[in-house]
Amino acid sequence: MTHNVSVEVTDGFHLVVDALKHNDIDTIFGLVGIPITDLARLAQAEGMRFIGFRHEQNAGNAAAIAGYMTQKPGICLTVSAPGFLNGLTALANATTNCFPMILISGSSEREIVDLQQGDYEEMDQLNAAKPYAKASYRINKAEDIGIGVARAIRAAVSGRPGGVYLDLPAQLLSQTLEVGHAKRSLVKVVDPAPRQLPAPESVQRALELIKGAKKPLILLGKGAAYAQADDDIRALVERTGMPYLPMSMAKGLLPDTHAQSASAARSYVLAEADVVVLIGARLNWLLAHGKGKTWGKPKQFVQIDIAPTEIDSNVAIAAPLIGDIGSCVAALLAGLDAAGIAQPDAAWLAPIAERKDQNMSKMAAMLARDVSPMNFHGALGAIREVLKQHPDINLVNEGANTLDFARSIIDQYQPRKRFDSGTWGIMGIGMGYAIGAAVVSGKPVVAIEGDSAFGFSGMELETICRYELPVTTIIFNNNGVYRGTDVNPTGGKDVAPTVFVKNARYDKMIEAFGGIGYNVATPEELSRALIDAIAAGKPALINAAIDETAGTESGRLTNLNPQSGAKK
Ligand code: ADP
Repeated sequence: MTHNVSVEVTDGFHLVVDALKHNDIDTIFGLVGIPITDLARLAQAEGMRFIGFRHEQNAGNAAAIAGYMTQKPGICLTVSAPGFLNGLTALANATTNCFPMILISGSSEREIVDLQQGDYEEMDQLNAAKPYAKASYRINKAEDIGIGVARAIRAAVSGRPGGVYLDLPAQLLSQTLEVGHAKRSLVKVVDPAPRQLPAPESVQRALELIKGAKKPLILLGKGAAYAQADDDIRALVERTGMPYLPMSMAKGLLPDTHAQSASAARSYVLAEADVVVLIGARLNWLLAHGKGKTWGKPKQFVQIDIAPTEIDSNVAIAAPLIGDIGSCVAALLAGLDAAGIAQPDAAWLAPIAERKDQNMSKMAAMLARDVSPMNFHGALGAIREVLKQHPDINLVNEGANTLDFARSIIDQYQPRKRFDSGTWGIMGIGMGYAIGAAVVSGKPVVAIEGDSAFGFSGMELETICRYELPVTTIIFNNNGVYRGTDVNPTGGKDVAPTVFVKNARYDKMIEAFGGIGYNVATPEELSRALIDAIAAGKPALINAAIDETAGTESGRLTNLNPQSGAKK
């Protein structure tokens, strides 16, 4: 056999980068090590942005939120076994939340892993990922990198978006391929998330149901925010005149100050409505599974979703509308006049307005009360006023009480600006989401964090400082999980399971990396610090001392907490 020495070759490292770039993917979130360090170096050398983290879970969370914000899969790159497993939590969380992302992990030699002969970081990652991902693929040959990346992208964004795992064995990366062959093997994904039009008879059925409603309600979920059909959704709400409720990450799809928002009369409208139009929201635990006391009077549902199996998941759905939200909402809008749907009458709208007024003035009074030491309302009242002046700021929010109170107190004015614990109620998304949101949007981020929630990702303050991101983290510091006052009943030396170091100074953590730290104890100080931090546009952390007696156990989820029969 003759060998042509002048044949130009490329390798797996280059092909992975080429395949991503070929599909307009410009950023990788990750953490380097064997066998993917050179992949990260090469991606950067080839003009991609590589954002390096201190823990893979946070890199994965950044990728997930990037996917949610852009409808392009966010990419997270990790090393094998432990790095992969750290990233897997984020992949599972992305899948649960319907965010498109791809976790790419290097893996050890197949022949050793499969015979369990004990390789460095040995693990059958492909199969470990399967139950927690929308899809899970391995590429074994360099000539398949193009098609493998295309398959991962389409799986992540088409239909119901989710997390995809892509396994890259170390030996794949160093495999060589002739340059011409390599070029021809790249695949540009055409129309990765095609529109899916609803059936005309489903649209008709939905319009009939809405027409017959006496007390209709629209419920917007984060699927509606993801869909980027903002103008049509607003038109549907305004032309029908129906009151609406946003789920937490759908806040801002219409400004929370909108006259038709029924958020301040939430329990009343959920209990009283007779027809509910669900747009990209699942009837899961966050909506009390669509039944029981929360939902009060019997009702019928229209449900818009791209996943047909979501229909009838918890209660019977009278009018399912299967398709992408943009197409479904446009079809409803087009049929409104012909269906003769009138504005709801005052018998429905007047009591809602009355309750809203009452509840909003009660809340205003609570926010204005000057309580010392500062409580959740005092702190959030101050933040709310500052953020009013910055409607385009990205807000990250997690914690127990910190999440529950901030969700109802902080108004959102623009779509896809609130990122929180989501479908799982997960803690630990804070700094990952903050970094992802800052990188993708190029706009400032404010992260309102319970002191416990912050602990899961706190080391990423270094990442925020390293990339000089305009992220202001506010720690609601009440000295513990839920609150700081629990005692060890034995009188022993260990503190209670929920208690942290008293009066910790989280602001000093960011100072270690060159960021700006603030330590505040009153709403006025908090307000001043936040105004200053946003104006500086630099990494900042505000340690906000909150009354350590103020929190309730598990926030509003106390009912989910099993109680010991022996508890007095
Ligand atoms: P929330 O937590 O805000 O109530 P969920 O995450 O429970 O929202 O629901 C989002 C729903 O939106 C999912 O059932 C998902 O299938 C659906 N979805 C996501 N993107 C689209 C889209 N582009 N078109 C239609 N449905 C979508």
